[in-house]
Amino acid sequence: MSQIITHADLLKLVDGLLSSGTKVIAPKLVKPGTVLYESLTAGTEWVPNGTDVVRPGNSLKEVVFPKHEKIYGYTLEGKTIGMTDAVLDDTPQVVMGAAPCDAASLAILDAVFHWDYQDEFFDHHKARTTVVTLACQKADGHCFCTSVGGSPKDERGSDAMLFDLGDGRYEVRCLTEKGKSLFAGKTTEGNAKPTEFAGPEKTFDVEKIRQFLETGFADSIWQEVSLRCIGCGTCAYLCPTCHCFDIVDERATRTTGNRVKNWDSCQFGLFTQHASGHNPRADQGQRQRQRILHKFMIYPDKFGSFLCTGCGNCSRRCPVGLGVKPVLAAITAKLK
Ligand code: SF4
Ligand code: SF4
Repeated sequence: MSQIITHADLLKLVDGLLSSGTKVIAPKLVKPGTVLYESLTAGTEWVPNGTDVVRPGNSLKEVVFPKHEKIYGYTLEGKTIGMTDAVLDDTPQVVMGAAPCDAASLAILDAVFHWDYQDEFFDHHKARTTVVTLACQKADGHCFCTSVGGSPKDERGSDAMLFDLGDGRYEVRCLTEKGKSLFAGKTTEGNAKPTEFAGPEKTFDVEKIRQFLETGFADSIWQEVSLRCIGCGTCAYLCPTCHCFDIVDERATRTTGNRVKNWDSCQFGLFTQHASGHNPRADQGQRQRQRILHKFMIYPDKFGSFLCTGCGNCSRRCPVGLGVKPVLAAITAKLK
């Protein structure tokens, strides 16, 4: 037996959450041609993935790892420094219709935010978030989840998964207690089964790419693929798994201010620039190499999973048509 919910009842569920004060984040049309994960004001604003777009232009990491976040406030009184904890938003939030490659990133990021330091901010946001994923029914030329261990129905990071039955109904599979609680009493039993979508064709042999990375540090490919890179950082900012941030003090008045964290990117020249002016990663080729090494060698060697879900956002949004997939394609071509 399957658990079934109609699209109309799902929208009612969203409206009920909104009226009870829960924040609902879902793919939403923010301007013609642009769908982003955004807060909804009504269930009808939700644009299920696969209707107008394959997936939103931004990434889901924003719900647990905001672009900008206060760590604490400070005051100066003579030689006395006062500190006040940041007040974190406690509002419960539900993500409706996440792409599986985005939800999976939340599980991947768990490792780095619980490594040598337990990140209370990440935990706080994760605890207040329930993720409902919509299994994919189509892919575009940038998707490559199946090459990096993912799939259109990847369950990692999801509390519940929806499968479009193609007739205005979804099969609901609850995966955690949060998912069960969200859908309790909202579904009916039925026998319908979704059409299975196999996902994008497997394009890369990541193990062969990893072998290349072991010895290819000085290879000319890094310069060749990166000549067109303008170092804008879009690839990292829209990537669900990139997680670098910088900590800075922002002064409000002469005696008060906040210590905050802001997203950063290894594709920026200033990311590694020393105070002396020396930069150990002096050009985009070296920065691109670092991004690929981190995603396919350093992170998996340390934490056991690729730092990439194959969502394709980096190449889909790169202004010069670069991103991880074209780089992996260039390495694969070189290995033939
Ligand atoms: S690869 Fe593309 S998106 Fe990334 S920094 Fe270079 S130009 Fe920007
Ligand atoms: S590196 Fe590119 S394809 Fe991989 S998760 Fe990040 S945005 Fe998606």
